[in-house]
Amino acid sequence: MVQIIPIRTRLANAYLLIGQRAVLVDSGSAHSADRIVAALKQAGLELSALSLIVQTHAHYDHCGSTAELKRLSSVPVAVHQSEQNELEHGKNAAVVPVDWMGYLTRPFVANQYEGVVADVLITDELDLRPYGVAASVIHTPGHTPGSVSVITDGGDAIAGDLLGGGWMYGLLLPERPRYHYFVADLAAVRSGIRRVLEYSPTRIYVGHGGPLETQAVVRWFARKIG
Ligand SMILES: [Zn+2]
Ligand SMILES: [Zn+2]
Repeated sequence: MVQIIPIRTRLANAYLLIGQRAVLVDSGSAHSADRIVAALKQAGLELSALSLIVQTHAHYDHCGSTAELKRLSSVPVAVHQSEQNELEHGKNAAVVPVDWMGYLTRPFVANQYEGVVADVLITDELDLRPYGVAASVIHTPGHTPGSVSVITDGGDAIAGDLLGGGWMYGLLLPERPRYHYFVADLAAVRSGIRRVLEYSPTRIYVGHGGPLETQAVVRWFARKIG
């Protein structure tokens, strides 16, 4: 069984997955390492228990503290191969506004974060069992070309920015599903949502707001594509 511990950072959620060891999904915005170490401590773990950091995608609010954590613990970092270059150079993958919130907030999107060299390159799937957590990473592009989601054997999903939770990046109605304000490829996002739903997750954790109840996502998605 995998325990999921959400960690709120200044801009995005990071998630600790705890099994025999611990995997961190995203590191949040810059200067979030302390919060992540504190969350590990609260779970009775040291930073050395971290076996991997999985980046759902290379956006500054999801990789902002990865370089710092790697410096502190030498933990390996996994990213989809198509965003390896952005992660290394601290650049954002695609940021394509699709609605007024996207256009409104695009000018405030930081274009630089501390880059880090990835150790593990994800293609279509990555099994996290060798890292001590019963879960798999699957490629769910669309928000950016290299976006991935994590499906745990306990039946939960962590979908990064494939889906959003609520308005104002989760400040209002965080449990309400929506598309993210930035979508590079809507058809791919829809395929990604279908791919996640095929696993019938109990709950879908997202990068902003959430968690989302799967039935709420199913109903919302049926209206969106109907
Ligand atoms: Zn993003
Ligand atoms: Zn985000």
